Amino acid sequence: MSKDDRRLAPPANDEMPERECARMLPDAERLLVLDRAFECNPMAIMVTGRDNRIIAVNRSFTRLTGYAADEALGRQPSMLKSGLHNPEFYKAMWDTLHAIGEWSGEIWDRRKDGSHYPKWLDISVVRDGPGGPVSHYVAFFKDISANKVVEERIRLLAYHDPLTGLPNRLLLMDRLTHALASAKRRQALVAVLFIDLDHFKNVNDSLGHAVGDKLLWEIAHRLNTCVREEDTVARLGGDEFVVVLESLQDREDAEHIANKVHRAFERPIQVEGRVLHATASIGIAVHPQDGDSAETLMQNADTAMYQAKAFGRDNCQFFAPFMSDRVRERLDLENTLRHALERDEFELYYQPIVDLRTDEVVCAEALIRWRHPDQGLIPPDRFIPIAEETGCIVQIGDWVIDQACRIHAAWRARGMRPPRMAVNVSPRQFRQPGLADRIRRSLDRHGVEAAQIDIELTENALMDHPDMAARILGDLKAMGLGIVVDDFGTGYSSLAYLKTFPIDKLKIDRSFVRDLLTDNSDREITLAVIALSHNLGLKVVAEGVEHPRQLEFLKRHHCDRAQGYFYSQPVPAGEFLDFLREYRERPPA
Ligand code: C2E
Ligand code: CA
Ligand code: CA
Repeated sequence: MSKDDRRLAPPANDEMPERECARMLPDAERLLVLDRAFECNPMAIMVTGRDNRIIAVNRSFTRLTGYAADEALGRQPSMLKSGLHNPEFYKAMWDTLHAIGEWSGEIWDRRKDGSHYPKWLDISVVRDGPGGPVSHYVAFFKDISANKVVEERIRLLAYHDPLTGLPNRLLLMDRLTHALASAKRRQALVAVLFIDLDHFKNVNDSLGHAVGDKLLWEIAHRLNTCVREEDTVARLGGDEFVVVLESLQDREDAEHIANKVHRAFERPIQVEGRVLHATASIGIAVHPQDGDSAETLMQNADTAMYQAKAFGRDNCQFFAPFMSDRVRERLDLENTLRHALERDEFELYYQPIVDLRTDEVVCAEALIRWRHPDQGLIPPDRFIPIAEETGCIVQIGDWVIDQACRIHAAWRARGMRPPRMAVNVSPRQFRQPGLADRIRRSLDRHGVEAAQIDIELTENALMDHPDMAARILGDLKAMGLGIVVDDFGTGYSSLAYLKTFPIDKLKIDRSFVRDLLTDNSDREITLAVIALSHNLGLKVVAEGVEHPRQLEFLKRHHCDRAQGYFYSQPVPAGEFLDFLREYRERPPA
């Protein structure tokens, strides 16, 4: 009853049952009113006699079913049956109807034109007096397809990833659980492939999320083409996908699919006029060997995926128990690394760089160490990559620069004529806005001239985004800092860019210097880098010099500087001063 109806109704009738209200009318008028209520009711109404033949239907019935009244009268309600429910369904309905006098529920019917639709149905039994025999059945019903569409949409949203339309984690776990149950009965294998795109973050960061989304969409599409109908491809979020392969014959089948995935990614992906190349790291866990439950299989596949990343990405690894230990160790490091800075657990070691013409120590490279409370001294190769991935490299890098400036100032204060200082800057730290300002503040805080500091950057830090790199390098150079390209020869440098960047020095990577005397190609590369540097007007530094004969070779070929165990390992600040004093008193012959 709407508010207006209530206002019109006489106050005395407010509490009166509806049936009483209808009875108050004279018989003829009452029949007329009830007939209208029947005929114009927005619910479809169908009345059957005790023989279950239709004796009355209203307009809504005709509108909904497509049957005119004269087509329905005299026939049985089964004329509306869809055939989608089994006999047990109808039996249960009739049982309830006779036991309690009414039945309500959802049911699928068929229209006159043959189309199916879901309806909500209320049926009541009419008896000849209380406890008497059934005289009629009255059925009310309405089309609920619109609700169904909404329901289906909600179901879809709850179980699917909106971007790609793939099943989400919820549905994936459900399907995996079912697959495992049936595999156990049939003693079949089930494989979980954990797929993580390599360097996807770079795409998002540099090209924007719209491009990232389109790339993910295309990846989802390609993954779907790699599997059979009964397999599941799901997206967990971000750039993580999972494929569940059911009823495998042997483990190699899973590897075969992983190879298919790698091949599917080989074709370049066009997004908004750009050509992108995606690669993926894939971890595989197979039931029953690698786990019984959905959770264990997922976790082990994830672990194997990490191993694939560690193996240089773009490959696939089967889970093996030893991997769990490594992942645990890595997670431990990741967690304690977050607090290492506030607990003051980092130290800088210093390694001399010597001018090969004058034999003078001209530079000290600052190299970070982590004094872990349980594990002792941890070398940078074990934690810098983690710091880079988690982002805490930015704070750690700031600390390194500040500490290097502090030590440089302290050496000078002791009247030592300290050599210049070189610090390593990681790719992420390099790209982080405000690097020049933060270096400036450290220089000012400790009263160090920019000209006393070299910044060492790897080729990849520069070449991944050359335009951005040129801008940042310009800022650093304008401050008066020296710029060094580290590990030269291991990355992928474009000589065209190299020429335009304001670089001062190239460092020949240790791997070439190591086998200089025995390996022809390493020797050729070393000579080529020396020549290239000199052509570009740059100084060239050889790192990893351990033997006098390597040094002799480098001197003979006009390499400008050398660094390595031949002179000194990296040592703490105090020891470095001792080394310097001794070296200056007794320079090598
Ligand atoms: P890098 O910049 O190429 O540093 C040179 C590495 O070679 C150092 O390893 C050094 O100890 C080692 N080395 C020097 N001479 C010899 C030699 O004659 N023989 C051999 N076998 N090795 C030699 P370290 O200190 O373990 O550092 C490894 C890498 O970690 C560095 O390579 C650098 O990429 C990174 N790293 C170190 N400190 C920092 C830092 O403060 N920030 C950043 N972002 N990275 C750092
Ligand atoms: Ca370096
Ligand atoms: Ca290096």
